[in-house]
Amino acid sequence: MTSTLRLNWNELLDEYRRRNPRSAEMSARASAVLPGGTTRTTTFFQPFPPTLVSGAGCMVLDVDGNQRVDFLNNYTSLIFGHAHEKLTAAANRAAESGSAFASPTEHEILLAEVLCNRVESLDKVRFTNSGTEATMAALRLARAFTGQSVVVRFAGSYHGTHDYTTTPGAGVPPEVDALVLTARFNDLDSVAEIFRTARQVIAAVIVEPVLGAGGVIPAEPRFLEGLRELTADHGALLIFDEVISFRLHRGGAQARYDVAPDLTTLGKIIGGGFPIGAFGGRDDVMALLDPDAGVISWGGTFNGNPVSAAAGVAALTELTEDVIEGLNASGETLVESVNDALRADGLPVHVTGVGSLFNIHTRSDPITDGSAAMIVDRELLAALHLGLMNRGFFLAPRGLGSISTPMTQLEIRGLAGSIVDLTTALLAGT
Ligand code: PMP
Repeated sequence: MTSTLRLNWNELLDEYRRRNPRSAEMSARASAVLPGGTTRTTTFFQPFPPTLVSGAGCMVLDVDGNQRVDFLNNYTSLIFGHAHEKLTAAANRAAESGSAFASPTEHEILLAEVLCNRVESLDKVRFTNSGTEATMAALRLARAFTGQSVVVRFAGSYHGTHDYTTTPGAGVPPEVDALVLTARFNDLDSVAEIFRTARQVIAAVIVEPVLGAGGVIPAEPRFLEGLRELTADHGALLIFDEVISFRLHRGGAQARYDVAPDLTTLGKIIGGGFPIGAFGGRDDVMALLDPDAGVISWGGTFNGNPVSAAAGVAALTELTEDVIEGLNASGETLVESVNDALRADGLPVHVTGVGSLFNIHTRSDPITDGSAAMIVDRELLAALHLGLMNRGFFLAPRGLGSISTPMTQLEIRGLAGSIVDLTTALLAGT
């Protein structure tokens, strides 16, 4: 899909370059030592991302002195915004007592207790350093538990960058790819068909209850219930990847949907802004990781890191039901107000949202699966993204955003108004 842009892409680029000369220099410098000048493909966009120097509350500051409202929040992980006093203090206190040990600390026990307490399906958890490692470990565990190799995932889902969950392509051995079958999100029949026809028995189905990076698309309740039944009937494990969706409810999206998976993967907000991941679930499955059982050996130099764990405990202590409800309500208001205005003007853009998560899509018809979310007007999306950057709003190049606690109606209305104005200017030439 492409549109005829009235507001010229080159004008937006010129303005961006004019406002970000030092970031341009930094980007050139970075390119000499980092491929493409970046360490994260997902955060890169043309002509170059800004080089940031600091963040406070919901604002980020770049090397050119531009301030932007940070709706990206490090891909939804900073639910309390930047440098929250209590989280920083907790991390500092932990760091001052030593930043890492090759033995457990009480911080990791506390965080595990908090998680098992909040999420009903978690009997036990293990920590990792990232969501990628969490899904990698959960899949290994499911394979070990079932004795099977094939896993099912969904088109448009994102579970990190390891071979079993990444989109097939360069560097992923076809032998590994052959062990991953892809079904359609919100299409139970496509999963049933796989269970019926797969030549090998399925070890696990891994699913995000709400597609996050894939466009903030909620599962239909019947879909998750159906997955629960199908996996149970076939002896496969059901893994909920809640790395993003955990923020939607005190007990994760699984509590919102009232469907209990066998295993859950977590990350982002549970580290209070610091690197972390976790996976956990049923006692009998997690027991394979018990060193006494000697079935799966899973290490990690920084697993259960005390700084991340201490910040995570502080974050989850602050993240009460009321706070979550407030964030969710703000997100829903944003989505409604933008969609009402865009619909009234007949513009081919809409925002999907679930609670405090949202995603701008440059198409007007409803999107219920991850494949559809890929079919958008990319030219318009890139222009909207750069236009919003120029206006002081930081979002993912693909349109993903989230609400953090320091945001007020001022920032939220500001973004809503800018999305509508820019879309109008880009398409209607006002
Ligand atoms: N699962 C989901 C649902 C994610 O959104 C992400 C990252 N955005 C990951 C896993 C991977 O997490 P990480 O980037 O911490 O490796």
